[in-house]
Amino acid sequence: MSEALNVAEIFGEDVFNDTVMQERLPKKVYKDLKKTIEEGKELDLATADVIAHEMKEWAIEKGATHYTHWFQPLTGVTAEKHDSFISAPLPSGKVLMSFSGKELIKGEPDASSFPSGGLRATFEARGYTAWDCTSPAFVRKDAAGATLCIPTAFCSYTGEALDQKTPLLRSMEAINVQALRLIRLFGNTTAKKVTPSVGAEQEYFLVDAKKFRERKDLIYAGRTLFGAMPPKGQELDDHYFGTLRQRIAGFMKDVNIELWKVGVSSKTQHNEVAPAQHELAPIYAEANVAVDHNHLVMQTLKRVAGQHGMKCLLHEKPFAGVNGSGKHNNWSLVTDEGKNLMDPGKTPHENIQFLLVLTCILKAVNEHADLLRESAADPGNDHRLGADEAPPAIISVFLGEQLEDVMEQLIMTGEATHSLKGGKLETGVSTLPNLAKDATDRNRTSPFAFTGNKFEFRMVGSRDSIAGPNVVLNTIVAEAFADACDVLESADDFEMAVHDLIKKYATENYRIVFNGNGYSEEWVKEAERRGLPNIPSMVESIPALTTDKNVAMFERFNVFTRTELESRVEIKFESYSKAMNIEARTMIDMASKQFVPAFIKYTRELADTVNAVKEAGADASVQLDILNEVTEYLAETKRTLEKLKEVTAQACTMEEGEAQARYYHFHVVPAMEALRAPVDALEMIVDKEAWPMPSYGDLIFEV
Ligand code: ADP
Ligand code: MG
Repeated sequence: MSEALNVAEIFGEDVFNDTVMQERLPKKVYKDLKKTIEEGKELDLATADVIAHEMKEWAIEKGATHYTHWFQPLTGVTAEKHDSFISAPLPSGKVLMSFSGKELIKGEPDASSFPSGGLRATFEARGYTAWDCTSPAFVRKDAAGATLCIPTAFCSYTGEALDQKTPLLRSMEAINVQALRLIRLFGNTTAKKVTPSVGAEQEYFLVDAKKFRERKDLIYAGRTLFGAMPPKGQELDDHYFGTLRQRIAGFMKDVNIELWKVGVSSKTQHNEVAPAQHELAPIYAEANVAVDHNHLVMQTLKRVAGQHGMKCLLHEKPFAGVNGSGKHNNWSLVTDEGKNLMDPGKTPHENIQFLLVLTCILKAVNEHADLLRESAADPGNDHRLGADEAPPAIISVFLGEQLEDVMEQLIMTGEATHSLKGGKLETGVSTLPNLAKDATDRNRTSPFAFTGNKFEFRMVGSRDSIAGPNVVLNTIVAEAFADACDVLESADDFEMAVHDLIKKYATENYRIVFNGNGYSEEWVKEAERRGLPNIPSMVESIPALTTDKNVAMFERFNVFTRTELESRVEIKFESYSKAMNIEARTMIDMASKQFVPAFIKYTRELADTVNAVKEAGADASVQLDILNEVTEYLAETKRTLEKLKEVTAQACTMEEGEAQARYYHFHVVPAMEALRAPVDALEMIVDKEAWPMPSYGDLIFEV
């Protein structure tokens, strides 16, 4: 047995958290920093110097030799540049360990190679990182030793966002301002802040590292590009929530310990639907912290998998025919007094506020469904959305029976139920029947589901940063709140006005509500009738970012400028093209160097067999049949391979941008699928010994 684990003791032991700050910082400095964290007050340099010094001393005690500004460029992963704490050598030949306030708050990585979508001309390649003091610094321990990681935002010299975090922080500010306006209308005069809370459930696959290394597609593309289904898949559902195998259990234990140390509240873990698929969810946190923590989760899964002789696959679709991976983004709005705006209240008064919040969200999602869809776009998600395992590429909202009923009453009932009684508004909804959380009321097929006291956005890709979806959620809801407050703040009769507004929003946006089976073909048709956008692919979703309507909204709330949005569009098209180019070239490489030679060798051996059987005077017709079949598929492989080479070469001659990305999507991707078909068919025919790499069965059933 291993030693008993004291979780409470190790939790957060490597985080420069509130307890550490309170212990180590002078009272005045601690107060100033708290003001900055809680109210966004600017931090002066003298205070920053003191904090930096204490942070360094603390980190060195933890064994840290370096610090890094940890940031989230538009590559989808995090980036860091390490600086050691050493100062210039003294005359004595010794060095001091130093870390200044300036170094803490601002960094200047040489950032010319990060995607900027033209925002940063190369002659002005400077980007700088700025400390996000609302997400605590931590010490990360790995093969590099111990490093003090400082969560930062990354901007161009002229202040344009070059990362995921800057717009996230801006959107949190926007929702804070508008949500405060809204709750003030309902008489709350005390809350100082409203923050989006986010909990991200992370799905992933584990495969054996040795087998992984035998597959170039996994190495280069993070997913298999060839592979026939094994005789058994996930049809028995025997993996889902099944008992953890020892190797996996050991892995999860270490992942949890690593995460707890850096303050990530890893909470639930279980086997997912597909064999070799698992899930991890932390307890929700403030949106920016949750985003940072999700990056830590992904990195930790990968690192610990390596230590256990495994590889963690975060791709949305590592195996065709087997469930892919996503990330459920649970989202709610909470005041600094602990009141969740998505919690249906107990009194009619609270109910009305809740219903206004809810209908504002319906309006936000209905008006910007295209943006929400785009926020989950990712090359890997093209294989998942609408493919019978994940929500369709159509955005809709699931409310559950009870709320749907309330909404219908609201829309249907005439004046009678809305009569004023004794000066108080009887809305007909004021008698909301115990709108309690109801965990059984679940609909796994909805992309955006109300689950008791939060919304769960289920479309997000497993590999993606959750920053993008939360930027969209915060901003579209901020807009709906702002519009509502504009009306209500100037209303003569508030109660009447709020009632009318709830009814108006519910009626106008009801088409977005759908409680049925989102995976069904009927829903696709029904959604079309309702006029809801169905955007099947990443390349078709990207333009949503720069429609006039969406630009106007982002600019109104200072989340993105048009220039920033245009740069993001450019980056997304480029990154899609690059990803598809890698996949196509990997397929060409595998087919040319591994599959075709293996098939040729196999046919030669088979031909020898046919001759030998004939010479022996026996009937070789079965062997000959197989030989013919294999040769036909081989010819098909060669033909589709040439076609893939041709379209890939063509794509490479095109200028980067939308046209090129569309060409990849509409021409290269189908050519990839065409090449895959004969190879997968051959896998079912030829001898296992002749197959040049581990099969699906080897990969997902023998971890
Ligand atoms: P599920 O049944 O979907 O797994 P859970 O209750 O386990 O639901 O929650 C999943 C995630 O949602 C967790 O990360 C959890 O902390 C988070 N979560 C729970 N309540 C909220 C909330 N009010 N706001 C945001 N996230 C929340
Ligand atoms: Mg969930």
